[in-house]
Amino acid sequence: MPDAADYAAMFTSLKAITDLAKFFIDARDTSVVRVKAIELQREIMTAQQGALTAQLAQSALLKQVNELEAQVANLKAWDTEKQKYQLTQVRPQGAPGGSAFVYALNKNVSSTEPDHSICPNCYEDGKKSVLQSVSLQIGHVVIVCCHRCNLKINLTGIEYGTQLIQGAPLRHRPK
Ligand SMILES: [Zn+2]
Repeated sequence: MPDAADYAAMFTSLKAITDLAKFFIDARDTSVVRVKAIELQREIMTAQQGALTAQLAQSALLKQVNELEAQVANLKAWDTEKQKYQLTQVRPQGAPGGSAFVYALNKNVSSTEPDHSICPNCYEDGKKSVLQSVSLQIGHVVIVCCHRCNLKINLTGIEYGTQLIQGAPLRHRPK
């Protein structure tokens, strides 16, 4: 990334080119003109290099600005989206494994979407991940899973096995 010194060097080169051009207008001696022509060529190359460096730095800065703008847009979108959910207890204190919470869709805020809940871990990461439920054949155990972070919450108690028989989005309305 060019700093003030790089720009100063570029302007010095451009000034030298201007001075050399002025010299050619007044020059009469061929040998001196040849020496000055080489000097002029060198100064032009230095100025071109400086301009190229500045152009590359400007492109990098523009890319950075675009990335930051996209990040801000994502944060604003998530800030709006997360208002639709409310922290809801899905397993009471005293249950095997202790209490558990998810973020459930608040139908008072969003009435167009079907009932569902999202993962509390991913919520904290600023990501929306809809929880899916699975039922275990033995013991009528219902577990909700996040396929993004692999969070698993057993809603119904003790887990007797791992044989899954169905999957559907978790439905829990905030009270
Ligand atoms: Zn998750």
